[in-house]
Amino acid sequence: MEKIKMTTPIVEMDGDEMTRVLWKMIKEYLLEPFIDLHTEYYDLGLQHRNETNDQVTIDSALATQKYGVAVKCATITPNAARMAEYDLKEMWKSPNATIRAILDGTVFRAPILAKGIEPCVKNWEAPITIARHAYGDVYKGVEMAIPKAGRAELVYTAEDGTQIKELIHDFTGAGIIQGMHNTNKSIESFARSCFHYALDTKQDLWFSTKDTISKKYDHTFKDIFKEMYDAEFKEAFEKAGIEYFYTLIDDAVARVMKSKGGFIWACKNYDGDVMSDMISSAFGSLAMMTSVLVSPEGYYEYEAAHGTVQRHYYKHLKGEETSTNSVATIFAWTGALKKRGELDSNQELVDFAEKLEKVTIETIESGYMTKDLALITTIQNPVVLNSEEFLKEIAKRL
Ligand code: NAP
Ligand code: MG
Repeated sequence: MEKIKMTTPIVEMDGDEMTRVLWKMIKEYLLEPFIDLHTEYYDLGLQHRNETNDQVTIDSALATQKYGVAVKCATITPNAARMAEYDLKEMWKSPNATIRAILDGTVFRAPILAKGIEPCVKNWEAPITIARHAYGDVYKGVEMAIPKAGRAELVYTAEDGTQIKELIHDFTGAGIIQGMHNTNKSIESFARSCFHYALDTKQDLWFSTKDTISKKYDHTFKDIFKEMYDAEFKEAFEKAGIEYFYTLIDDAVARVMKSKGGFIWACKNYDGDVMSDMISSAFGSLAMMTSVLVSPEGYYEYEAAHGTVQRHYYKHLKGEETSTNSVATIFAWTGALKKRGELDSNQELVDFAEKLEKVTIETIESGYMTKDLALITTIQNPVVLNSEEFLKEIAKRL
């Protein structure tokens, strides 16, 4: 059989621990036998990040700007324990944060559905994709404990020295205050990524905030979305037969629960943090959740939503058997291959990626799965496979 050719490379960002083990096997069993895999390889494994003073992470993000499509393995975000474990020179920043800062992107997370892994919400038939604005608000908040009675004010000083002041509260006793911010530029990037991704995936886009209470802050989000939609995207949405609609966050929550799914829900930073955990657990498993970072210029970086599955890796190192779910990492690859195929008008590559997704789902639906899914499936007597057997089962069917 002749292998499928690729014209432009995919930026390949290797990672850490159990997902690094899966990464190699996915390539070996599922990709390389069928594709003349053309990637530009960046090793984001913690050891190599440390050796390069994290330059490799920056280089991989710049390469994504050059080629447009990347696929990333889960990586360790260093903490105190990792400093000792890997003898690090510095507590390097989270690669995802570094890459996101360079690409200025929005993260879209969507569950992968399979019959037998049923969502808790029985009317959800199609995936709900959460788009989380990943800048500012409470995550860049400045807080103060107020010790006793006194006046708290918000003060803005312009470059020319003129000031705007707002009374926050006249305290009669102890309390707390918090200042937070966002920038129009960041909100615009967020909005643009959301509109592009909705068109790209042909799904309706919902956006929700609490603008009835937050008449300046949240209202600015609402206005920026509305102005951009009217000026740049309305026609394209109508042509694609999809809808943009804004509603209050509480109304959105109520509607989401009663919906059939199949849309993108754009959320402010905090709402997205909370709601993405709700959506992923209600759909079944973090191991069945993909994630794609989309920049406002239309660069794409695909990955699994879960981490490096450290606990399984330590078992693996001891020579014990693991049953780690590779589905989200497989779908990171298929997402990247499909996008690369689309951009290069390489239909063979798109078809292959779609086939691989279909076969992966069919494998699970036929009762062959890893332990995490076997514990929650409604399929009778599932066959529990180890990490490698599961990939080989897919390869056999492929
Ligand atoms: P994790 O890797 O997401 O795993 C947490 C637990 O969830 C696992 O112990 C396992 O539960 C279950 N799980 C997650 N993915 C699974 C899969 N594919 N198959 C089966 N079970 C799965 O989170 P963590 O262990 O807290 O974090 C490990 C490292 O990942 C950390 O260093 C963190 O910095 C990093 N991380 C990276 C990213 C990223 O690169 N995007 C995201 C999050 C975390 P059981 O042990 O009960 O089987
Ligand atoms: Mg969270």
